[in-house]
Amino acid sequence: MFEGILITKDDAGYRAQLQSIDEAQLPEGDVTVQVAWSTLNYKDGLAITGQSPVVRRFPMVPGIDFAGTVTASSHASWKVGDQVVLNGWGVGETHWGGLAGVARVKGDWLVRLPEAFSARQAMAIGTAGYTAMLCVMALERHGIQPGDGDILVTGANGGVGSVALALLARLGYRAVASTGRPQEAEHLKSIGAAEVIDRAELAAPGKALGKERWAGVVDAVGSHTLANACAGTRYGGAVAACGLAGGMDFPATVAPFILRGITLYGIDSVMAPLALRQQAWARLARDLDPALLEAFTREIPLAQAPAVAADLLAGQVRGRVVVRVTA
Ligand code: NDP
Repeated sequence: MFEGILITKDDAGYRAQLQSIDEAQLPEGDVTVQVAWSTLNYKDGLAITGQSPVVRRFPMVPGIDFAGTVTASSHASWKVGDQVVLNGWGVGETHWGGLAGVARVKGDWLVRLPEAFSARQAMAIGTAGYTAMLCVMALERHGIQPGDGDILVTGANGGVGSVALALLARLGYRAVASTGRPQEAEHLKSIGAAEVIDRAELAAPGKALGKERWAGVVDAVGSHTLANACAGTRYGGAVAACGLAGGMDFPATVAPFILRGITLYGIDSVMAPLALRQQAWARLARDLDPALLEAFTREIPLAQAPAVAADLLAGQVRGRVVVRVTA
């Protein structure tokens, strides 16, 4: 038996509760992992609260990511004792996830824990931080250099936003943080923002083309914010869109694309190929300051995950949340 959060949906409603789970109930998989740490991402908030239909099977252990130690394996790449990280692949949505003491998954889904990080640090980064890295890598691949101009980061106090700011600053970019919590401006500057703007500037319906302000954008918000970010991107610039914290819609025009040649990159962490994941984790190991990571990371016990998930969706969590599972 092990402790875990279990989501059930029946006539009595939708519930996420800490309970004892029998190992015999674990799903199929060729690797079993003792989960040391997990985390709360936006999608975990949606899954735990049931606010969006993220969970596709019931009962479900939520948690789209985890870090831990292999305890059994019939997969050629993994042996007992290996330290591993998992992000995405539908874990916590269609396959039991990381907010429980034991997880059983496909070995093909796992990445080796980078030597630079402890399991806790890997989860302080979590899927949000790994996605921030994917966004930064997309802007780099586009050819955007630190001297090219400002990079807008939306949802700046969130997990993706905080890690993106830290990465961009470390790489020499001038990052501009957009936030609905201007009272956190000093904190955002301490983790990498050169300037902080009120997200209200971007949240309302805007013009098809605005002032050419951004060399690049990391957007975790979507909706009008993403449309305005595109409209304010300089000739030839690029926008990496990964999130929908402000809405799933994209009320934009083609003007920035056909008149300014901007590029919109879609960033998906869930099904990203293994080679890209490995590259992103290697880059995080190189380019993310672990001390800075700690400055925007809060630790909670597993039992608090349901309550903090609701806070996360309410926009009351700053940065990242790591969940102590069996560590
Ligand atoms: P967080 O909840 O940690 O951060 C989201 C941030 O967005 C908040 O802190 C807030 O920042 C801002 N925000 C919240 N509500 C609104 C709103 N209504 N309008 C504008 N801004 C808002 O989430 P994560 O950082 O974990 O994830 C961010 C987004 O990225 C989510 O939509 C998530 O689903 C997505 N995501 C996508 C992935 C992918 O593979 N594509 C992987 C990981 C995340 P502030 O207070 O500073 O304004």
